[in-house]
Amino acid sequence: MSSALDLPGAGGNTPDLSEAERARILAKAALFAPPPSVLTDGRRDLVGLSRDELIAAVREIGEAPFRAKQLWHWIYHQGVVDFALMANIAKPLREKLAAHFVIGRPEVAMDLISEDQTRKMLFRFRDHESVETVYIPDVTEDRGAVCLSSQVGCTLSCRFCHTGTQRLTRNLSAAEIVGQFMAMRDAYGEWPSPKGETPRFLSNIVLMGMGEPLYNYENVAAAMKIIMDGEGIGLSRRRITLSTSGVVPMMDRCGAELGVGLAVSLHAVSDDVRDMIVPLNRKYPIAELIAACRRYPGASNARRITFEYVMLKGINDSEADARELVRLIAGIPAKVNLIPFNPWPGSIHETSSGNAIRRFADIVMNAGYAAPVRTPRGRDILAACGQLKSATEAAG
Ligand code: SAH
Ligand code: SF4
Repeated sequence: MSSALDLPGAGGNTPDLSEAERARILAKAALFAPPPSVLTDGRRDLVGLSRDELIAAVREIGEAPFRAKQLWHWIYHQGVVDFALMANIAKPLREKLAAHFVIGRPEVAMDLISEDQTRKMLFRFRDHESVETVYIPDVTEDRGAVCLSSQVGCTLSCRFCHTGTQRLTRNLSAAEIVGQFMAMRDAYGEWPSPKGETPRFLSNIVLMGMGEPLYNYENVAAAMKIIMDGEGIGLSRRRITLSTSGVVPMMDRCGAELGVGLAVSLHAVSDDVRDMIVPLNRKYPIAELIAACRRYPGASNARRITFEYVMLKGINDSEADARELVRLIAGIPAKVNLIPFNPWPGSIHETSSGNAIRRFADIVMNAGYAAPVRTPRGRDILAACGQLKSATEAAG
């Protein structure tokens, strides 16, 4: 069943440890499952259903499967939230649909725009849990990236990350992940979904908000499949990047099934230091993580792996660290994103000096890798990398 995803050397009679590990991760994710997408009045939310699930839903109310195709188009291409606007469906059926279903959106609980135009929204779901979503417009062109959250909180507690101070409450559903993107597009009026090469304002997605996406793999995958579907939102997988702190057993599956871009939060080049600042390293140490990167499909110059490296003064920013980084990733088509540490209330780290960052970047660039220093965006509204935390706990 899993042959295409097996790790090299795990064939024959050898028990497939990675398969067992994946099963364990998925079972744990299920413990934090989101509540069902049903309103108190019993109506079901159609957003987040796969095409097959949508067909099943219309069948359940006695309607033909082609209705699912029409609904898909209205929901994901046109972006409507009101059945009354579905012009090619007769009024009695529109009323029947509205009696059984809704087309949901998360509630906008807060909406902040930074002086640099970065926009942060706090979205609240039906059970009153909330997450933050950020839109980062390009500074020169009419495009930009939406940074989506995948969990309410995070089980991992990376030392430099604000989300990491908030325990995991639950995973987000596919509907809630797609819903963040759709609600952000509502805010900019970007409907219907632009086709083909037509420019998009919300042109890219980065799964870099709150949570570890590979610890909520099923829902993240379902959401990305909806977003990539060509008859709906139709965003290309080349415009989607998933960031992981290094959940090695799920990286293979992500590559094989979704083929989205991969960003890896490396942040340190020795296990000693990484164990301390990214505690997941104790489970999946650097050598295993780098091996999984080498296996990641489509690693080509067009689809380089991004290594994220948060610059922490005196911790991971020496010239020796930079040289070791270059040695570690040798042969991997990659770029290195250097992220100046973004402080948050109560954080204990300091960001590296400009000189240290430049010296580090030069060593990486001289080895032939792009090493852009990420300009912090939306710091004034706590929207920059690692500053997100849902409002319920942000005050505490
Ligand atoms: N959980 C995933 C994705 C969310 S974090 C992951 O860890 O990759 C997105 C990126 O922001 C990660 O590289 C993360 O390490 C980085 N980050 C976290 N806190 C930060 C901070 N305070 N300053 C700068 N970057 C930070
Ligand atoms: Fe979780 Fe990523 Fe923050 Fe680590 S950096 S605590 S994995 S959200």
